[in-house]
Amino acid sequence: MTWRPIEKPKTGWTVVPNLLDYERTSAEFSWEAVRRELDGLPGGRGLNIAHEAVDRHAAGERRSHLALRWLGKQGETRDFTYGELSALSNRFANVLRGLGVGKSDRVFALSGRIPELYVAALGTLKNGSVFCPLFSAFGPEPIQQRLAIGEGKVLITTGLLYGRRKVKDLRRSLPHLKHVILIGGDKAALAEPAAHDFAALMAAADDRFEIPPTDPEEPALLHFTSGTTGRPKGAMHAHQAVVAHYITGKYALDFHSEDIFWCTADPGWVTGTSYGIVSPLTHGITNVVDEGDFDAERWYAILQDQKVTVWYTAPTAVRMLMKAGTEPIRKYDLSRLRFIASVGEPLNPEAVVWGQEAFGLPIHDNWWQTETGGIMIANYAALDIRPGSMGKPLPGIEAAVVQKQKDGTVDVIHAPDIQGELALRPGWPSMFRGYLHEEERYRKCFAAGWYLTGDLAKRDADGYFWFVGRADDVIKSAGHLIGPFEVESALMEHPAVAEAGVIGKPDPVIGEVVKAFVSLKAGYNASEALKKELLGFARTRLGPAVAPKEIDFRDSVPKTRSGKIMRRLLKARELGLPEGDLSTLESYE
Ligand code: AMP
Repeated sequence: MTWRPIEKPKTGWTVVPNLLDYERTSAEFSWEAVRRELDGLPGGRGLNIAHEAVDRHAAGERRSHLALRWLGKQGETRDFTYGELSALSNRFANVLRGLGVGKSDRVFALSGRIPELYVAALGTLKNGSVFCPLFSAFGPEPIQQRLAIGEGKVLITTGLLYGRRKVKDLRRSLPHLKHVILIGGDKAALAEPAAHDFAALMAAADDRFEIPPTDPEEPALLHFTSGTTGRPKGAMHAHQAVVAHYITGKYALDFHSEDIFWCTADPGWVTGTSYGIVSPLTHGITNVVDEGDFDAERWYAILQDQKVTVWYTAPTAVRMLMKAGTEPIRKYDLSRLRFIASVGEPLNPEAVVWGQEAFGLPIHDNWWQTETGGIMIANYAALDIRPGSMGKPLPGIEAAVVQKQKDGTVDVIHAPDIQGELALRPGWPSMFRGYLHEEERYRKCFAAGWYLTGDLAKRDADGYFWFVGRADDVIKSAGHLIGPFEVESALMEHPAVAEAGVIGKPDPVIGEVVKAFVSLKAGYNASEALKKELLGFARTRLGPAVAPKEIDFRDSVPKTRSGKIMRRLLKARELGLPEGDLSTLESYE
């Protein structure tokens, strides 16, 4: 046993980790037993995420406990107890019902981190509709594609984003979109067809709502993610996912009843939903939401002023804090902070060591992805951290390093420290249930009884997993997964562009920078002015989170004989690395 109690000298507060004996807990683990730690809908009417997250606490001792503390950009604060959050999400569920939005209808949200987003998410789940968050820094194209694939019936957004993201123009191509609910009131946007004022609808709605019977397998959440090629993929999750949200909060984030938790991820991405909304609430703890963007001093002030005890952030953020140095931290009293975790990209060993130096606490890396719905591999409070490792599988999760053979069979690599594809044994509650309308793409993720994650990893002799890289060409920039195809397609809409190849170029702070290589159509000449124009063009369409930051011109873009862009070769040349097997290369100067 390597665990030492975490004693906070200033508060005299000692916390015993929930997961003390990893081996034993893993051996005795059963999902059924975890399910029994939750309530289920009254009267045995099923399992609904929003009931577990809100209503069960609102109906009990935690009714007046602070559920959500919202910190506005301008320094304002809004608090919501479990009782209040329950009533507000009831109202929103009634709003949807009143609009004729029912079970399995998809309700999209496009907004910054504002309280209405959280109320809408929970109300949508109560109504049995499917909640689909969109990242507010997406441009019109990613928004249109996701709403179209998801056949969104409702879009909740703000007047500002409605205008800025040109939703008005998009609506022509979105026949399924029946209602736009606008937060914050905006006269011009409200004059649009089927536009409703959020506040007015909420004021008129009843604050009592009985969650209809919910089969645990009913769809609850739709999260879009990207592959190397093709359109964005809508990963579908069921209400049952809440069992995993709950237990990962308990084991991997070590939630205790008096915790004050801050997840810095945006609900536009899966971490910001699973852990920025659901998981902490299932534990009845206080969830801090900050509307503001990254700012080292602001963040330290939040940790101090909100007395944050458990903090879940991302490697890019940690590296940005590292850049600001340890000096600013000394001005703040962070004595309440007892557990730090990070996810989304490789957390370099230096960052783990820096965390120890800066906060007196290690940073616990953990691994998961949109498809897994919740944390799968983690460094736990009671286990020694191996800096640079993602940790060990969650109890209940079987993970392996495998090699898929050409004939479809899968060899499990038992020997330590050998690289292969990270695979998980299907069956955990938050596993995605499909890619919406893409049965074949879903099927391809599985082989010989394993879910293949698309990540390359190694396992050491003690069972710790080490991330090696992606098996495909998707890009991780500032923690956001970006499909190169989406970027290439947008660039090719510009009249000057003949071909585009997009790669992730390693960056010491944000992991990877999106870089595009572009060949021009006859009659166009490469110039700095055209480069600027293309950067601006892509940014307007894709939004700042997805658009390339760098563009280089090339006479042609390397392709295989079957016409696939060889991003691997573009990357190797960009980085001066060996070019590997070029036997499938068509022709390239
Ligand atoms: P997303 O589906 O957007 O959450 O992205 C999931 C992908 O992010 C994974 O498949 C990994 O490639 C990467 N990722 C997530 N967590 C980690 C981690 N702890 N270390 C390295 N890569 C990670």
